[in-house]
Amino acid sequence: MRRRPRTKKTKNNFVNIALEDYHSNSYYVQHPELFAELQRILNGHITISISKTLNMAEHKDIKELMIQLTPNMPVEGHSLNERLYWILHDMHDFPTCQTPDCINNGAKLDNSRKYFKGITVGYSKHCCNKCAQFDPKTTQAKKATTLKKHGDPNYRNTEKSRQTFTQNFGVDHPMKSKSFRDKLAKQHLEEFGKEWYFQTEDF
Ligand SMILES: [Zn+2]
Repeated sequence: MRRRPRTKKTKNNFVNIALEDYHSNSYYVQHPELFAELQRILNGHITISISKTLNMAEHKDIKELMIQLTPNMPVEGHSLNERLYWILHDMHDFPTCQTPDCINNGAKLDNSRKYFKGITVGYSKHCCNKCAQFDPKTTQAKKATTLKKHGDPNYRNTEKSRQTFTQNFGVDHPMKSKSFRDKLAKQHLEEFGKEWYFQTEDF
């Protein structure tokens, strides 16, 4: 593997380095469509999976390059999409849980299966549901709006939700709706071979 001097990792840098490769490596001269594809991806028009395109053995050097540009990301267990996300956003480490009093002490969101949601969405903001629920940025914002509207931060209008449901479905409870029951019955039929659970052997 060819070693490159460590420089600031930016999108432009990545394009320049890729450009160098393009001119020095006959493979890219023979396959200009690959380089065009890489540029298209880097220019933010991300509609395809870069992993699918680049994981093929013949694109190994771009993969190597991306690994070099993301030295703080372990080589194993992370997709090329995740690496590209770091390169495009000039990231040098995994993000941490954004809830200030995180119950996991500001956990690093380095479990990609769990936290990396794809190249357009990026990472989850919290390490767990609890932190998401207690993030003051979100709960306080919600409560402030409710307080302003109703004079009580914990106000919940149950009568209103019943009315909305009645308006939408013509009944005030899900099980009173025929379309809801039919949908449920169909789902049961697919899963258990019977419309209702009490018609199965298990019951
Ligand atoms: Zn947390």
